Amino acid sequence: MKPFFRSIVLLLMLNTLAFCATSSNQIWDKGYTFLKFLEAYNIPLSVYWNMYAEDKELTAEIYAGVRYYTLVDDNVLIQALIPLNDETQIHIFKDGDSYKVDFIPIKYFKSNASIAISVQKSPYQDLIELTDDINLANEFVNIYKNAIDFNTKVLKEDKLALIYDYKYRLGRPFGNPEIKASLIETNRSPNFLFAYNDGKYYNERGDEVMGLSLKTPIKIKSVRISSKFSLNRMHPILKVKRPHYGVDYAAPKGTPVNAASNGIVVFAGIKNGYGNVVEIQHSNGLKTLYAHLSSYKVKKGQKVKTGQTIAQVGNTGMSTGAHLHFGLYKNNKPINPLSNIKSTTSVLAKAQKEEFLKIAKGYEEKLKIAIMDNFSGYTPNYFASN
Ligand SMILES: [Zn+2]
Repeated sequence: MKPFFRSIVLLLMLNTLAFCATSSNQIWDKGYTFLKFLEAYNIPLSVYWNMYAEDKELTAEIYAGVRYYTLVDDNVLIQALIPLNDETQIHIFKDGDSYKVDFIPIKYFKSNASIAISVQKSPYQDLIELTDDINLANEFVNIYKNAIDFNTKVLKEDKLALIYDYKYRLGRPFGNPEIKASLIETNRSPNFLFAYNDGKYYNERGDEVMGLSLKTPIKIKSVRISSKFSLNRMHPILKVKRPHYGVDYAAPKGTPVNAASNGIVVFAGIKNGYGNVVEIQHSNGLKTLYAHLSSYKVKKGQKVKTGQTIAQVGNTGMSTGAHLHFGLYKNNKPINPLSNIKSTTSVLAKAQKEEFLKIAKGYEEKLKIAIMDNFSGYTPNYFASN
């Protein structure tokens, strides 16, 4: 079964489709920037310089490898749609003799699937062969990273079952699938994981499995948060709704910035809007971003430890005063860093745990059905009989 191959009607760009205009899509190259994009289409750079500071900062969120769409007529860009993440995209469009830039929600279709596999090569390989979706295979490996060594513990013919949501846009799989429930056998014994509404994964007893603990990247006592994380905040002065994909810590220039967790530096350099930036890749597909730095003392490929000083607070890029912009991403999706700063793995409170166990029971039943539908005659005894 290949759940992504569905045909849908391409409506999105039809409203401005002029005669002979060509609609196409490309991949955003590594090192490509919004300014370079404007240059490539002969769009005056004042379009960028006239944007609100917050909006300039957002253009630094475009990431390498993302697919974006352009509509060009007679070598003139009519409009373009460039995703910042799975939810929001930049919409740049011709308006008379000039161009306008807006940030709009991404329209996509959502569906869900349940699959079951008897492992032949490896869970990762087999998942890609069945679904053609690398993001799904990566996410599966990520959620079990702290729990299971797939190389030694999973045997041939061990069963795997997944229930997940996925998105598609303009006929293509889009963004990251969300695994809702998962089962992988190790030597025929079950290992369940269930997603809860806090975005974390727990086993069937309600213990968190994935847990990456983050430390506050600034050590000043009672450091002030000048702007919180928000997927759609109303700007107090500009009166427009804009996301803020991180937490701003107000701190004097030169204050040490520390790695929030162990990881590998994957970027150290300038990103327009964010100024000097360091990005650290952690386990479980998580990445932290430190922006507006006055200077940094790490380089790409370097291993860093929790609490290690990597940079200094500054005022570079689009910033109105010295502060650290601290972002957290899971597979390029921004998430709230504050909900992940903790010293131990999560334990669900009593009421939450009861709710979680109810959800998990429902999913366990669906996993059972997926296994039994695909492997008739195989009725593992670890499923509660009813
Ligand atoms: Zn910020």
